[in-house]
Amino acid sequence: MSKLLIVGTVAFDAIETPFGKTDKILGGAATYIGLSAANFNIHSAIVSVVGEDFPEEYLTMLQNKNIDTSAIEVVEGGKTFFWSGRYHNDLNSRDTLETQLNVLADFEPVVPDDYKDAEIVMLGNLHPMVQLSVLEQMSSKPKLAVLDTMNFWMDNALEDLKKVISKVDVITINDEEARQLSGEYSLVKAARAIEKMGPKYVVIKKGEHGALLFHNDQIFFAPALPLEEVFDPTGAGDTFAGGFAGYLTKTDDLSFENMKKAIIHASNLASFCVEKFGTQRMENLNREEVQKRLLEFRELTQFEIELSS
Ligand code: AMP
Repeated sequence: MSKLLIVGTVAFDAIETPFGKTDKILGGAATYIGLSAANFNIHSAIVSVVGEDFPEEYLTMLQNKNIDTSAIEVVEGGKTFFWSGRYHNDLNSRDTLETQLNVLADFEPVVPDDYKDAEIVMLGNLHPMVQLSVLEQMSSKPKLAVLDTMNFWMDNALEDLKKVISKVDVITINDEEARQLSGEYSLVKAARAIEKMGPKYVVIKKGEHGALLFHNDQIFFAPALPLEEVFDPTGAGDTFAGGFAGYLTKTDDLSFENMKKAIIHASNLASFCVEKFGTQRMENLNREEVQKRLLEFRELTQFEIELSS
């Protein structure tokens, strides 16, 4: 079976939404990616770093999902990466209140030997030099390298970010960030400009408005499932990326047609993530729920149309 190597933050988050506020809870890009990809029963491992303040039970929870956590370094005396954010009333936009890099500031990732030949590498959100270092440690070129990032790194490490972007096959990015990175307002033009930076596939996430997949002249669109209640969008983008990479790892088929399916699985999993605060919903998701919602997706998007001659 193919293997998925994941890198990204494992973090503490403090979140404010119109529905409430949390203290420090489990978060981080790699956490959400791992929990999402775990739905495909694949072999996966996370490369990340936490501080001594990080509860053992969180690592155990990830291990129970069959995620290899041996490459999550625990720094003695160190403090875990911390992010806090506040969502606006529409829940589509948020302000970052604080980002404390803590142990991430000096992190030197080490890819475990048995994942150096992983077929798929998911470079989740964290410092682009760490993402690059992970790619460089692979013993063979992965079949697919997927990169996710955010405006924080565009503001603070743009040149490094461009370097790693030039080396990946797929980038997943939200609409605002795609505009910032490309300098183009039209998302079609933005995707074209980002393709020129390296990735052959560009996925632009538009929150509750779905996601677009661009590849050469082809475009595919998947809606987000219209939900009655969105509670906390944190991690939806990472859950999406984890679903995308997890499905491709499971199916081992990198055709455009299969990538479309991966986008649907990704949207489906992200729709669960937003239903509760933090990782709660993803920790307790079962196969039946996932299958049922996939059917809803099919109902939502399928139609027949006759073209007049
Ligand atoms: P998302 O809502 O998908 O953008 O992801 C939110 C997650 O990203 C949170 O759990 C944070 O811990 C994590 N995060 C926030 N800022 C950063 C950053 N600059 N680098 C890496 N991860 C971050």
